[in-house]
Amino acid sequence: MPELPEVETTIKGLNSRVLKRAFVDVWSDWEKIVKKPENFEAFKKEIKGKRINKIWRRAKNIIFDLSGSSSLLVHQKMTGHLLVGNWKLENKKWMPVEKGPLNDPYNRFLHLIFFLDNPPSHPLSHKATDGQSGKMLALSDARKFAKVELWKTKDLLDSKEFKNLGPEPLDKNFTFQKFKERLLRQNPPSPRLRQGKVKQVLMDPYIIAGIGNIYSSEVLWRAKIHPEKNVAKLSDSELKLLYQAIKKVLQLAVKLGGESFSDYRKVDGSKGDFDTERKAYKREGQKCYRCKTLIKRLKFGGRSAFFCPNCQK
Ligand SMILES: [Zn+2]
Repeated sequence: MPELPEVETTIKGLNSRVLKRAFVDVWSDWEKIVKKPENFEAFKKEIKGKRINKIWRRAKNIIFDLSGSSSLLVHQKMTGHLLVGNWKLENKKWMPVEKGPLNDPYNRFLHLIFFLDNPPSHPLSHKATDGQSGKMLALSDARKFAKVELWKTKDLLDSKEFKNLGPEPLDKNFTFQKFKERLLRQNPPSPRLRQGKVKQVLMDPYIIAGIGNIYSSEVLWRAKIHPEKNVAKLSDSELKLLYQAIKKVLQLAVKLGGESFSDYRKVDGSKGDFDTERKAYKREGQKCYRCKTLIKRLKFGGRSAFFCPNCQK
């Protein structure tokens, strides 16, 4: 599933390609992907003509602020990723017009396509397009779990789900003190914190936003902490290592354009480069880069943790 670095990479790609453009039409062969409004025709009618004024991220949500005080929310969930380009229908299948990364098999599952107006031409250029600006914004989603919703901006910001999200770990205001408070506070709203296993706590968006299975595994490997260790039992120096590892791993992953081990691709269809830095996630049976012990996979809470049994005790 795309996590903070992948969603951040998508936001950057979208900002350089579709900002200030307007929706002309929408197509879908899986209308249930749009959850709000439930009726796809109503969604289509409402979004047509709206212009994209701002594109930003909160946790793993992509938010397009549109004209008319509305916002389009896209949560890519398990296998979804947004792409920008040009496709044409061939034998009832959308095929990329140009050769390139959009032809990657992971980019073939187009279930929702927004048609955009022409990109604004550069004032010094006679060309209408710069080659990067596709006419279409598409959602490729192999497993069809992604969610698309059209909100009144104010209602979205006031929604319970949005308000309860944990702080953004790359935010300047996310200090070590704040991190400690989030992890160790009493009467947590989330049942996961009561179990207290550090991996599950890190992955809880209502405690800290944006961290999932990939980066919790990577962060814990770097901090040398066992994924099942109870957060209440972490020493102050372990908490410090954990905090530093979160910042460091996420910053590095954003810089490298995210992880494309699985379905995630950048908006131009190409892969992110974090894979060269992957130390634990899905490396079971391979040697630890620090001590050569074989990385183990541990199942708990319905998810897998990947860790070095020697370094992470
Ligand atoms: Zn090790």
